[in-house]
Amino acid sequence: MVNFLEKPSLLSKGVYLQLVVEMKLLDDAIIRSNEAEEVLTYHYKAEGLRNRFIIPWRKVKGKLRRLVMEKQRSYNIQPDCALKDDLCLNCPSCLLFGGTGETSSSKVQYNILSRVLGETFISTSEVEGIQNYTQNAVGEKDLMTGQALMTVLTVPKETLFKGVVTIKDPTKEMASVIIDNIQRLTRIGARSVEVGRVETSIVNYKLSDREDISVYNLLQNQTQQVPQNDVASFIAGLPAVETAYSTLNNQIPELLKDLIGRRSPKKDKKSKTKEGESTAGEE
Ligand SMILES: [Zn+2]
Repeated sequence: MVNFLEKPSLLSKGVYLQLVVEMKLLDDAIIRSNEAEEVLTYHYKAEGLRNRFIIPWRKVKGKLRRLVMEKQRSYNIQPDCALKDDLCLNCPSCLLFGGTGETSSSKVQYNILSRVLGETFISTSEVEGIQNYTQNAVGEKDLMTGQALMTVLTVPKETLFKGVVTIKDPTKEMASVIIDNIQRLTRIGARSVEVGRVETSIVNYKLSDREDISVYNLLQNQTQQVPQNDVASFIAGLPAVETAYSTLNNQIPELLKDLIGRRSPKKDKKSKTKEGESTAGEE
């Protein structure tokens, strides 16, 4: 029986909370893209999948992180922690999503790995005629903007996306914070998406010693479903979100003390040179 961690741990204990998330578009989403990485449809070779709309995990994660920080600020916990170069690496949000000390204005000497893992969200239904570029198929057409080829794509409202969000080595508090904010995810996309109102809900969960749920498999093989767990009573058993933030915040000083304490003072450069070679004068 796998359980939540009692308190946050820097070393992995091999516990995964997987949340199966559904995101429904409430409006048509118009996506303009001229960046190769902004792929919003994908052709899967798998028989049961074929052409799907997708939302890259990077986009969902970015939005979720923003929401987690926003709510944290509303409780006045590390209100100056901010994305880009101003991560504090000393707050619940940084603990959950990670950060690099060196590039942060906090100039701390450690990095934090993200505990929130995810994968591409995939639409539950196939996209018809995506490859044909015909007039009405999905309202897709190419426009030339300067030298770049821009794609304009309409994702029809009520399109349902499925994704799995995993919290690695979760405590109940971490789960409470992430779940609360996933449910507050009511708009997706950044500069390239207009009118992206969504409704996001958690439809299943699994606490396990491995990451074994994937949307790719869920959508491809409907018979191989994970057992349905009672999400509502699971969420009801978690601490309230405000309590969760403050408990997590209070656990951080002790956790980071461990982190800083474990760092060795300096790397031994000699270990990199070949045996027998003199290292004299190299340093
Ligand atoms: Zn922070």
